[in-house]
Amino acid sequence: MSDFTKDDAAIDKAARLLLQAKYAIALAGAGISVESGIPPFRGPGGLWTKYGEPDGRSYDRFLDDPKGWWQTYRKREGYVSELIDTIEKAKPNPAHYAMVDLEKMGILKHTISQNVDNLHVRAGSKELSEIHGNMFKLRCISCNRRFEMEEISLDELPPHCPHCGGLVKTDGVMFGEPIPPRVLDRCQSEVEKCDCMLLVGTSSTVYPAAGFPADAARHGARFIEVNLYETPLSEMCDVVLRGPSAECLPPIVERLKELAAKPK
Ligand code: ZN
Repeated sequence: MSDFTKDDAAIDKAARLLLQAKYAIALAGAGISVESGIPPFRGPGGLWTKYGEPDGRSYDRFLDDPKGWWQTYRKREGYVSELIDTIEKAKPNPAHYAMVDLEKMGILKHTISQNVDNLHVRAGSKELSEIHGNMFKLRCISCNRRFEMEEISLDELPPHCPHCGGLVKTDGVMFGEPIPPRVLDRCQSEVEKCDCMLLVGTSSTVYPAAGFPADAARHGARFIEVNLYETPLSEMCDVVLRGPSAECLPPIVERLKELAAKPK
């Protein structure tokens, strides 16, 4: 159990900000996944601390030898294996479900997630941009169509797109790979519209997602931060909840229900 002390005043303020917002969106990072037991990449216990950080050329290696890449991938070696095993066992936590509740209440209009673990989808988020892709999907690098695993046969490697014949890779964005333009455009237009941004478990240091809060701040958006740790964004936030998102977000949903039930 964490030593998180519920901060009722901050929860109330966060709920009121969300209620007042015309277009609230969320930006989710690794913190919410860590709470589901998924190891982070960096830091103590991180996958790259254990296996060594990739050199930033993974996309080039895929392009140089897509068949070889796929053969290695299917053998599930190194950190990919541990990551897939852990993610397959992981379950969405109360923070994922609270975000779905906020979406159903019409408060959260969109979620931008930097996580590739499919947990937002499994929890039921519908308005979702997975900016780094989804480990359980595939994508054509020519037309950017995304596919469910079972839609593409892996009998012959590398697989090709049934629509355009382009190379198919896993949807997770590799080092050195550009963010698929359709996803990036959608994120940017959501950020453009938002007047309130809920930052969940993200230190917002990895681009392009790191640029979103700054963009939103330029047009006057308000910020709610939910994070165990102080981040470079904490200072500019209107409300900061310093604790696990699984313990901070559900009380915000409860408070919103109370506020909504009150006669005006
Ligand atoms: Zn295609």
